[in-house]
Formats: sequence, structure tokens, C-alpha cells
Amino acid sequence: MLVALADSLRPSIAGRVLVPNDADWADATSGFNLAVTQQPDIVVVAAHAEDVVQAVRFAGEQGLPIGVQATGHGAAVPVEGGVLINTSRLTDLDLDPDRGTARVAAGVRWQQVIDAAAPHGLAPLNGSSTTVGVVGYTLGGGFGPMARTFGFAADRVRRLRLVTADGAVHEVTAESEPDLFWGLRGGKCQLGIVTELDFELMPLAHYYGGGLFFDGEDAPAVLHAWREWAGQLSDRANTSIALLRLPDLPGVPEPLRGRLTVHLRFLYVGGPEEGERELAPIRAVAAALIDTVAVTPYSAIASVHCDPTDPLPVWDTSCLLTEFPAAAVDALLDVAGPGNDVPLIVAEIRPMGGALATAQGTDNAVGGREAAFNAYAVGVLPPPLVDVTPAAGRAFVDALAPWATGGTLINFHGCDTRRPVDAWSGATRERLDALHQQHDPQGSFRFAQPHSRRR
Ligand SMILES: Cc1cc2nc3c(=O)[nH]c(=O)nc-3n(C[C@H](O)[C@H](O)[C@H](O)COP(=O)(O)OP(=O)(O)OC[C@H]3O[C@@H](n4cnc5c(N)ncnc54)[C@H](O)[C@@H]3O)c2cc1C
Repeated sequence: MLVALADSLRPSIAGRVLVPNDADWADATSGFNLAVTQQPDIVVVAAHAEDVVQAVRFAGEQGLPIGVQATGHGAAVPVEGGVLINTSRLTDLDLDPDRGTARVAAGVRWQQVIDAAAPHGLAPLNGSSTTVGVVGYTLGGGFGPMARTFGFAADRVRRLRLVTADGAVHEVTAESEPDLFWGLRGGKCQLGIVTELDFELMPLAHYYGGGLFFDGEDAPAVLHAWREWAGQLSDRANTSIALLRLPDLPGVPEPLRGRLTVHLRFLYVGGPEEGERELAPIRAVAAALIDTVAVTPYSAIASVHCDPTDPLPVWDTSCLLTEFPAAAVDALLDVAGPGNDVPLIVAEIRPMGGALATAQGTDNAVGGREAAFNAYAVGVLPPPLVDVTPAAGRAFVDALAPWATGGTLINFHGCDTRRPVDAWSGATRERLDALHQQHDPQGSFRFAQPHSRRR
């Protein structure tokens, strides 16, 4: 049955059409998060954008649901049945250095853009990990290491090409399709598959920044000092802090292996002297095990957060905070600080504010702008920890509940299927629901994270 279905699709697809047990099935369905198993009926590995159009039309004719995967970094809701469109081979990238813009296809990852833009002294608003896909990240807002200075990545989008559930192709700009332009920037999926994205690059060749790693025993002093210091920074200064529990493995730098450490990230957009002045008070709080803060070419931006690049089984969760007072630091230390044996590789606080607080350009659907901090925890999930890791993540969120807004950033919402998605205000959610109803009345894109709390 499935084989016959796939055979009927093959003539219209230039790429690959796969069914379970085909040789490349595992490759085409797996991604960064090894804890999520994608189980579609058919995978279309698109060779160009027209394959996406044909696959969507085919799924519509057959009444099959549709999922999309570029890298698997955000595969929070696994695909079950239907057609999974794998966009990982759609890696076309055009850079216009004179206009300071880039155009990417659906499978481009951030490092490709960074490497192409760097020779022109330009930089994109990528996230902490540069192996994440540009499109999935940007549709969810995109909160990166320079966000307090330049805002969400979604704010800098100029044009999208979208394939809706009926197989129609939409050129989406502020002028041509203002409602879709609003909803796609921050509303994250459910409206169709984006096959092209145009966005602005920032004029930046170097930054002053990197990481300060402190001993876990210094966590109370460093976190309390960081809290006060971070509240006084200019909008040119970006920081975040994480309690790290990295494995005792050869790939991990020796001072960080198999123990609790504190990772303070810093990125200053401006002259190194001012950056150094802003950093100085927190640098003096304790002796760093490793200090990588320096003038650095933007092409090395991944070294600020040092996110893992190889696939892992992970479970993550988050919450937005209105404030991060001293009592919240203590609450965080109680569940994830020294003396706790928890399987959280990262328990992180990222200040928001600055350019994140207001849309840069035309209004869009990015939710959570009003929050002051994003709190995020991620743990590994090998079989013995399938219950322990979520329990530790939920304890992290519960500990911070007194200061929580009640919402999350959709890109950080994570894997906790017990918590309804609440990433938009009521008015934004209603407008997104209406757009979804208009463009996907059958709910073909049902694997995307739902806009509505009620679904
Ligand atoms: C290590 C790591 C670091 C991260 N750092 C940050 C960060 O700093 N800031 C931040 O904001 N987020 C961050 N994220 C979250 C990340 O931005 C989201 O998970 C994002 O959805 C990943 O997109 P992807 O295409 O790489 O992943 P995929 O799993 O391939 O896609 C995730 C989802 O994005 C949607 N999507 C992907 N492609 C398309 C398309 N062409 N059309 C329509 N919808 C599409 C789909 O709903 C899909 O299910 C991080 C995630 C990880 C794992």
C-alpha cells in the first residue's frame, strides 16, 4: 500500500521518495534530537523547491498530514504518519553585500550564512548554535547572542516564499501579503512550508566577547553578582549565564569535564575598550577556569555558547521571567546549584530587554517580548534517565514559578508535552488561529507546535 503510494509520487519528485525500510530511511528521518523518533509513512527528500510544492499537493490529494524537517533541532512534536518533507538538501544561498541582505533556501544552516557574509564585514542574527536551520529558527522569532542590540531575527525578515496546504506558492512581503508576513515572523509554522527567506545582515566583522567559565563552587557568588551586573549593562552588551554539567568525555575541555561549572557568555557590539570596561566588574568576581573573551571574528560566533554540534538525545524546557531577583538566584541554586546531582547539562538564564522589547520594523507575531529573562534547561535522555531528566527540568521551572510570566518563547518551549504551548498573547494567538484556519483548514500541518492552548 505505502510502496504503491510512494510509487505514484515518484514521477513528480526530482529528489528521493522513501518508505520505511528503504536504505536511507534512518538518515532522512533522524535529526539533532535523537530522543525524537519521526515516524511518517513517506519521506520526500526535496532536491529543489518545486519538490516541496509537489509533495504538499500530493499530501493534500491523499488527505495525508505534512511535517517538515531541516535539521531536527526543533523536532519537539514527532511526525506520526503522513508525509515528512526533508529540506536538508535545499542549501542555496545568495548574498547581496551592497544591500546587506541574504536569501536562503529551506535547508540552510546558520554557519553557511555566517561564512558567506563574513568576507563582506556582515553578520546574520543567528542563535547560539550555528548548526540550527535558518528558517525554523527565524519563524520562531530567533533570540541570538546579539539580540539585545539588534532584536529578534524575525524582525529583520524582508520576504518569504511560502507553500500553503493547497499547494499554492505565495510571495510574502509586507506589501504583497501583510497578514502572512505578520504571522510567519514569530508565529512558527502551521501556515505552510517556507522555501525561501530574505533577511537583513548586520554590519559587523568582529565582536568583543566569548565565555568566562567559573568553578561550580563559585556559582552562588558569580550568579548573584551577575544578576546585579547584567541589570546595568548597555544595550550593546549581551550576556547569559548557565550552570553546566558537561560529561567526563575527551572532547570536553579538561577543566569543565564531569563537574559543575558556571558559563558566563558575553558579547559586546562596539569597541573592545568599552566592552572590556562593561565586562570588568563581573570578571573580577572570581578566578575563571577558562576566559575566552577577546576581539573575535564573527565567523567564530559559535564559540560564545559552545553548544553541542553532534546529535544527542535531549529533553528541554523553559519559562519566561518578569524579573530575576536575588531570591530567584537562590531558588535556581537550590535545584541546580552545587550539591545537586541533576542530569541537566545546561540550566541557563538569558536577559532580554534592549532591542528585543519592541519590533524592529513592521509589527509581527513574535511572542514574549515583554519578558525580562528567558530561563531554559536541557538534559540528556539516555534510557536510564527518561524519567529523571524531565523531573529535573520541571523542578527548574517550578523553582522559578514565582517570577514566571506564565508563557514561553516558542523556540525554547521544549519537549514538555504536559505543558500547553503558551507563547503568544490572547490577541496574537487568535489572529494566528484565524490565519491557520484560512490557509490550512484541514489541519495538514498538524505536527507543528499548536498556536492555540485549546488544541
Ligand atoms: C542546540 C540548540 C541551540 C538553540 N539555540 C537557539 C537560540 O539561541 N535561539 C533561538 O531562538 N532558538 C534556539 N534553538 C531553537 C531552534 O531555533 C528551534 O528548535 C528551531 O525550530 C530549529 O529549526 P531547525 O530547522 O534547525 O529544526 P527542525 O527540527 O528541522 O525544524 C523545527 C521546526 O521548525 C519548523 N520548520 C523548519 N523548517 C521549516 C520550513 N521550511 N517551513 C516551515 N516550518 C519549518 C517546523 O515546525 C519544524 O518542526 C536552539 C536549538 C538547539 C537544539
